Amino acid sequence: DLEHPLDNEIYPELSPLLQAMDEQNKAKDAVANMRKEFSANVSHELKTPLTSISGYAEIMKNGMVRPQDIPNFSERIYKEARRLITLVEDIIKLSRLDEESVELEKEDVDLYALSREVVSRLSPQAGAKNVQIMIEGESVTYHGIRQILDEMIYNVCENAVKYNVSGGQVSVWAGNTLEGPKVSVSDTGIGIPKEHQERIFERFYRVDKSHSKERGGTGLGLSIVKHGALLHGARVTVDSEPGKGTRIEIKF
Ligand code: ADP
Repeated sequence: DLEHPLDNEIYPELSPLLQAMDEQNKAKDAVANMRKEFSANVSHELKTPLTSISGYAEIMKNGMVRPQDIPNFSERIYKEARRLITLVEDIIKLSRLDEESVELEKEDVDLYALSREVVSRLSPQAGAKNVQIMIEGESVTYHGIRQILDEMIYNVCENAVKYNVSGGQVSVWAGNTLEGPKVSVSDTGIGIPKEHQERIFERFYRVDKSHSKERGGTGLGLSIVKHGALLHGARVTVDSEPGKGTRIEIKF
């Protein structure tokens, strides 16, 4: 009963996701609205880069591009295609959280070691932005789904780099507390205005759409974090001040 045929054709894994949304929500009208909105959002988000790609390609195909402009056109096509790949990957990650996650094996994961790995994976990106990223803490074992924990920590740390300023810092802390294991990520970036802080975990929600797109954002990163947290019975808190920075904590 999808309203947008595009969803099923391009992205067959969308249906289980919409179904899962149904089960979770008791209020039928609310669900219907959310489905409509999500489905419309997905269509829009997929169509925008596809339209650009086919537009640029068509002009090139028709020989309407001056030879000196070809590198520029190819670059745009490449960028839009990369964008689509990231988007589809994020949608798949999100739908997997609703669907298959039950089948994924839980194992003992050292959250500190995992956070270190994430930090080192993000180092080149941070370096390119002149952002310093560092990690402190101590080994702490948590029984969870490694791949999902990895995605959660990665998304929070990546945002701390992406929404930072040149010369800024990202401090990651992972370890045990009296309340249990915790991963905390603080940045000295642009911050999030109070009225947006609740909503950033919604699918496709961005405080500043063009700002996010410029940085390769899909608007799905934090909803993956939220769903991963739900699955693990973890809590995510946000504490932020515009112009000063943001701290996001995952409490397991
Ligand atoms: P995106 O792909 O746009 O980064 P996310 O779901 O990861 O999507 O985040 C949603 C929005 O929350 C972002 O577009 C950005 O506006 C805001 N945001 C997330 N993390 C931070 C941060 N550390 N500092 C400032 N803004 C942030």
